[in-house]
Amino acid sequence: MYGGPGVKTDKNFPIPESMKAWVLGNPGELKLTQKPVPVPKRAEVLVRIDAVAICATDLEIFDHGSPALIQGGKPFNKNFTPGHEYMGTVVALGPGVDEYKIGQRVTVEIHAGCGQCKRCREGMYTSCHNYGLNYGDVDKGHRANGFTTDGGFCEYQVNNINTLVAIPDSMSDEEATLVVTAGTAMYGLTELGGLVAGESVVVTGPGPIGLLGVAVAKALGAQPVILTGTRDNRLAIGRELGADHVINVRNENVVETVKRLNGGKGVDYVVECSGAPNAVNEAVYMVNRGGKVCLAAFPHAETPVDVAHIVRNNIYLYGIRGEGKSATHRAEAFMSQKRFDATKIHTHTFALDDLPTAIRYAKDRVDDAIKVVVKARGVATHRVAAE
Ligand SMILES: [Zn+2]
Ligand SMILES: [Zn+2]
Repeated sequence: MYGGPGVKTDKNFPIPESMKAWVLGNPGELKLTQKPVPVPKRAEVLVRIDAVAICATDLEIFDHGSPALIQGGKPFNKNFTPGHEYMGTVVALGPGVDEYKIGQRVTVEIHAGCGQCKRCREGMYTSCHNYGLNYGDVDKGHRANGFTTDGGFCEYQVNNINTLVAIPDSMSDEEATLVVTAGTAMYGLTELGGLVAGESVVVTGPGPIGLLGVAVAKALGAQPVILTGTRDNRLAIGRELGADHVINVRNENVVETVKRLNGGKGVDYVVECSGAPNAVNEAVYMVNRGGKVCLAAFPHAETPVDVAHIVRNNIYLYGIRGEGKSATHRAEAFMSQKRFDATKIHTHTFALDDLPTAIRYAKDRVDDAIKVVVKARGVATHRVAAE
């Protein structure tokens, strides 16, 4: 029987002892297996996972391992379950937990942090100094779902209560998986100073974080918000999410166009979400003197940077990791108040059993896929032959 010391369950939410779970084998290899359903400890709950979105970072982890870090190394062949953009229903409470109720719908942010290092104490738990230290004699209790501990490509997962965000019934499962993506954009704007009402913002790269970055910047009152990218269909979605102007960088000189659209001057803020090799320099040329640039994308190669221009013009550069300082709660507040419609970036839903197909859609952008979601219940298994 499922349970543990001090753990509360409810007969209306029966919990099996084992569950379906995808695990990472060799690079690029995911296997469907059975695992015991984990049991929540102090300050934790068990979440029945109702939906999980695939992120570009998941694709990176499947093939290259990094930025996942399991027992101090690459995550391959360690019975590790990836997946970090999930939501679900609280079905068991760990000892002493009264902050959430069984049956409550929640979405989760990724990082719990160790809670005891300098950065965790500052709310910067996504840059915890004890990142990945949660094993053996270096166990500091750090948790990042799908990065340093098991994640969401399974049926149940334990989560620290500090990673939970309550959601209203009016928010669909699919929409709730996008809160953490909007939360990352919110964190970027938080680190830039947060007071962007009436300020000019460029978002470079119309991936999920960039598109929701446009939506969050607009909801915060930024004016104008300019989105740049290479794909017209993505730029069109950016307009629907609130971009005042879009620029296809294949057709125009992006720096000149940004300046023209902003009255001849550079903008106050750039949120760089493309990871393109020339993106950092273009960003620093697009901001005005004293402007701020947030770097939210992981480039694959070292990036050349015009340091002299940055110094001469007092430009600030901020790297951000994930969704710190409770940004996810602020993003959820905008979404539950319908300040923007994040579902515009959700394009496909598959059954959990069809994760490999879902991954292919996300990776190859099959059928213009942006955010692809998998669900353990209520979605028919895909018949590959019928494609
Ligand atoms: Zn992600
Ligand atoms: Zn920490």
